[in-house]
Amino acid sequence: MAEAKLIDGKAFAAGLRARVGEGVAKFAAEHGIKPGLATVLVGADGASQVYVKSKARTAAELGMESFDYRLAAETTEAELLSMIGRLNGDPTIHGILVQLPLPRHIDTAKVLMAIDPAKDVDGFHPINVGRLGTIAAGAPLDFPVPCTPLGCSMLIAAVAAPLAGKQALVVGRSTLVGRPVAQLLLRADCTVTIAHSRTRDLPALCRTADILVVAIGKPQFVHGDWIKPGATVIDVGINRVPASGNASRLVGDVAFDEAMRVAGHLTPVPGGVGPMTVACLMYNTLRSAQEWAGASL
Ligand code: NDP
Repeated sequence: MAEAKLIDGKAFAAGLRARVGEGVAKFAAEHGIKPGLATVLVGADGASQVYVKSKARTAAELGMESFDYRLAAETTEAELLSMIGRLNGDPTIHGILVQLPLPRHIDTAKVLMAIDPAKDVDGFHPINVGRLGTIAAGAPLDFPVPCTPLGCSMLIAAVAAPLAGKQALVVGRSTLVGRPVAQLLLRADCTVTIAHSRTRDLPALCRTADILVVAIGKPQFVHGDWIKPGATVIDVGINRVPASGNASRLVGDVAFDEAMRVAGHLTPVPGGVGPMTVACLMYNTLRSAQEWAGASL
């Protein structure tokens, strides 16, 4: 069997960012304002700072207005909720992203619930979660969908179409990744199974999948002989493992070299799903701005 084709998430994300950039320019020309993205970071977690910076920088690069709010770790829940209230009411802001995780003294569910669902560009508000959970097959995604799952579904559509009737297995059932990916695949008429830590005989289940999405956070957990020959494999996992000396490197949840010998298409880590996440955030922000403009005509 020939080697799998790599799914170049970097290139795909660059294409999506370019399309969003064109949409932003058109939006600004038509409406006289730029789509605005507010990023809110509470505390100084190193990884979160890097993520937020990259999101704000990408928004600015694509011609959006980027509002970067850095709040002290001691910020109270009431102060954060009051800030979200102000952002909700600000007509220059079309997307609000509160970087997770929040400090322990703040109730994350309460904060996510406080974001205007129309500005919820992460797609975590219960209203948007419910919309995705109740969407009909093929119905338009006219509400914000979580960015990483949306990115996975775009990559899958690009390499594995037609999807109708295909067996899809999503390994991982988190509300952030696994569940929304499964719902997007169901919307695309796949026959979807969700596996988790209590699933029996995962290798055998994996072998039935034409489309295998793995989001568990366990380095190189899925082996080549678990994969159906020719399957599309989307590796969402990001795991830092020791490399030679004091160095470390990133690996996915799938044993990459083994999977390359069996799969039809495979995302690398890094450079697969990861770059799609920020590009989809930009896509969601532009879409929210367009919805806002449509609603205020
Ligand atoms: P969670 O820890 O929230 O969820 C992990 C899921 O994997 C759970 O449903 C868990 O099952 C399941 N699981 C754990 N161990 C096993 C096992 N041995 N067999 C089968 N299922 C198992 O993680 P996330 O969904 O947030 O993230 C998953 C991975 O994706 C992480 O590596 C994360 O870093 C990465 N990620 C990457 C992103 C990107 O941009 N590329 C964005 C977000 C996440 P159970 O429910 O039974 O506990």
